[in-house]
Amino acid sequence: MRLTSQHSVNLPSNLSPIDHEPPASAGTSRVKRGLADNRKLWPPGVITVSLDLKDQKSTALAVDAIQEWAHNTPALQFRIVRSREGDIRICDDESLKGNWSVIGTDAGNIPLNEPTLHLERNDDSKTFRATVLHEFGHALGLLHEHQNPEHTINWNKPAVYKAYASDHFPRELVYSQILELPVGDRLEVTRYDSRSVMHYAYPGYVTHDAKGVDTQHWLSDGDKAIARRLYS
Ligand SMILES: [Zn+2]
Repeated sequence: MRLTSQHSVNLPSNLSPIDHEPPASAGTSRVKRGLADNRKLWPPGVITVSLDLKDQKSTALAVDAIQEWAHNTPALQFRIVRSREGDIRICDDESLKGNWSVIGTDAGNIPLNEPTLHLERNDDSKTFRATVLHEFGHALGLLHEHQNPEHTINWNKPAVYKAYASDHFPRELVYSQILELPVGDRLEVTRYDSRSVMHYAYPGYVTHDAKGVDTQHWLSDGDKAIARRLYS
């Protein structure tokens, strides 16, 4: 068993979106596509979201990404608040590193004066918005799709370690954030979806069959389906 918590280590920038949250333990039940932790889902109702970002452009992009999720989570209403005491607290404080989020209701375990989701500042609007989509998916309880136990990725594990392991990103994190498959009895496992925003992008040379995955900029049909399944 592993408790989910926030970490502060960066993945190399050629993995995108970059982040680092440990997969939760869990078991299996079936929905259409995707991967989520049933223990960490929000109850129906209003969730307040604090946005503490550097400028209006970043804020508008973040709101737009959150709204894309909101269209597919009818049981939840997200209320953007100016205070820093939202249920989900998003910031781009440059004293913090990496893109990351705690998983779902684990946000309630974080002291109110700390963020639950951190974004690195990025002037590339498209990439920034895609990162918000990914991290907010974690905030809703979703896990990494490339760690779906049903994935069909033909990892070249030595190449993965060679590409990503470093002093700043040790082998254990490469394993836990890329290669490890979560197990347990509260895991919502569904058909693998390589087009999910919860999937990392990576180059073909880290697989045996040279099949890379590109960054996804919009929720896939599978993302929408699991969001509706979890929050309708
Ligand atoms: Zn992630």
